[in-house]
Amino acid sequence: MVFDRVIGQQPAVTALTRALRSGRVHQAYRFEGPAGVGKELTAYAFAQSLLCERGGPIGCGQCRSCERVVSLSPEPPQVPRHPDLLLIARGLYPPALLGTSQPEVAGIGIEQVRRIVLARVGYPPHEGRAVVCVIRDADELTNQAANALLKTIEEPGERMFFVLVTSRPDRLPDTIRSRTLAVRFAPLADHVVASILERNGAPTEAAAVAEGSASLALQLADPEQMAARQDFADAVLRAVAARDLAAALDLLETRSLARDRLREQLAFLAQTFAQRGRQAVAAQPGLSELAARQHRIVFGAIRSLDRFGQPALVLEAMVARLRRA
Ligand SMILES: [Zn+2]
Repeated sequence: MVFDRVIGQQPAVTALTRALRSGRVHQAYRFEGPAGVGKELTAYAFAQSLLCERGGPIGCGQCRSCERVVSLSPEPPQVPRHPDLLLIARGLYPPALLGTSQPEVAGIGIEQVRRIVLARVGYPPHEGRAVVCVIRDADELTNQAANALLKTIEEPGERMFFVLVTSRPDRLPDTIRSRTLAVRFAPLADHVVASILERNGAPTEAAAVAEGSASLALQLADPEQMAARQDFADAVLRAVAARDLAAALDLLETRSLARDRLREQLAFLAQTFAQRGRQAVAAQPGLSELAARQHRIVFGAIRSLDRFGQPALVLEAMVARLRRA
């Protein structure tokens, strides 16, 4: 069945397939959970089930309808070819099509909601079964756009369904949250991420630092990025071993310190210490304890970054602590 492609999200899949089989499908769902764990994939499987020519309740994945839910039109805007599946995402449609002069940069604008969604309200589906609207990164809806959607989400009409996909549900207005039914998606287990990497022909090491996100793992598995993370870890280790703190900080001076990048590199470094600790645990308990302390220090640095500490200061403080560990 079409939901088989969704890996490691059994509670979410069970909730949705149960609703489909019982015929009690909510009309406005909110798929929430970390980025890259299968929320949008699940939204398409759900849409296939509602639009399948064979009548469902679960999409067959083979009919013309199911096929066009997951294939994109070759020309921009690259949206699903099924005319009853509406996809909303920031910047997806060119300004000319939305009747605006500026591309959408700040968020999903009200014009997109008007032209793509509200224009369809009250009309029957083109091909019979339903109209499904998937909103990618729904937390990017501008306030105006969210307000324009409220009434429709609350009373969508008989065969209209919404799936709002978000990895930052706390940024959605309460009014939208209270009108949508949450389906929660969890971070993927490391072995699931590893198997996804393997299937994509990528090295599986990145699974351990991807925090349960398949898309992040695929990005991290990129050879150039892997080399950059290794360079960073080597530079930190050299800095920790340098004769004094000034020399240590010199070694780090040229590092690029964008927050997200640094966070990812620190996660890799933490993993390096964790691995050392595991390897030494039997033969050299002293070394294993040191690795555990180092691991804690790097994790502390990640937490500081998450609390919006300045990247350069966080890195300097971490190296100073590692030198005393
Ligand atoms: Zn089908």
